[in-house]
Amino acid sequence: MTLIHTPTDISLVKRQPIGRFAPSPTGELHLGSLTTALASFCHIKSLGGIWRLRIEDTDTDRCAQQFSEQIMIDLEALGLHWDGDVIYQSERIDIYNDYLSSLLRPLTYGCQCSRKSLAHYWSQQDNQDSYKQRAEHQRYPRCCVDAKLNLYTHKLRLQLPNHLIGFIDSIQGLQWQNPQQTLGDMVVRRQDGMINYILAASIDDGLQHISHVMRGLDILPLTAAQISIMHASKLPSIDHWYHLPLICHTNGQKLSKQNLAQPIDTRKPSALLALALQLLQQPNVDMDTPARMLQQAIAQWDNTPLQGKQALNSPQL
Ligand code: GLU
Repeated sequence: MTLIHTPTDISLVKRQPIGRFAPSPTGELHLGSLTTALASFCHIKSLGGIWRLRIEDTDTDRCAQQFSEQIMIDLEALGLHWDGDVIYQSERIDIYNDYLSSLLRPLTYGCQCSRKSLAHYWSQQDNQDSYKQRAEHQRYPRCCVDAKLNLYTHKLRLQLPNHLIGFIDSIQGLQWQNPQQTLGDMVVRRQDGMINYILAASIDDGLQHISHVMRGLDILPLTAAQISIMHASKLPSIDHWYHLPLICHTNGQKLSKQNLAQPIDTRKPSALLALALQLLQQPNVDMDTPARMLQQAIAQWDNTPLQGKQALNSPQL
């Protein structure tokens, strides 16, 4: 079966554009995450919309309050003021669990496979299989799908649809993804109760009535899974997707916390904004206060130079 995703009835009613920035506070903002924040802010404001801030801190092993605070200090210093209250996902675990035990329940099952047992399983398959088949085997082989294990004392998996889902990404173009083929039955709640972040993001994007999602290209492979989770949860769908090219070092390596990208320094906020706008290939803005620079950037915001690009290189990195 092939499905082209179109917004649900609810979202066809004209609504105020709502965008969001949803950082995981596993470190401070770097130039890559700053450009995502800046682009989503300028874009949604250029549409007369609302910009929300959501702290995606369900991963308690890696997230820290000090990083959330620093992210907010940096955004404020740059004039990137969010609308309404900040949402912390760590305070919303009951909401995600409610969805898992109600609307999503028919799609879930308990799983007792350990990493070790799965590694063993895959090593048994290796001999006969080509590289491509091996890569496919990295998907969970569904050993526990019919085992009827207790849902609350085991990790919980969600059965993602096994058909193509199409959606338009207004930067990357038309996308087709089969979430079952690429992600398999993904773990949505760990045995210790930790909620998977794409599950939490899907539910919150729906509950916050987000209409425009602009985020990094690294999350594009999860988008059809998000569409199907939102659909199964009967939440209003996203009208417009935009996956931004990643900011890369000149050697092509993505700027990320994993490869120790430098935290941004907001002591010279105007220079930083000018650099980020230049990286985003926007027309020049006059050097001024952050507020005035942002006003100008919003007025001349243009996604066109980003279209079809997967990476943006900066000679300064
Ligand atoms: N929390 C994710 C990150 O910091 C972003 C998720 C999203 O924008 O949907 O990479």
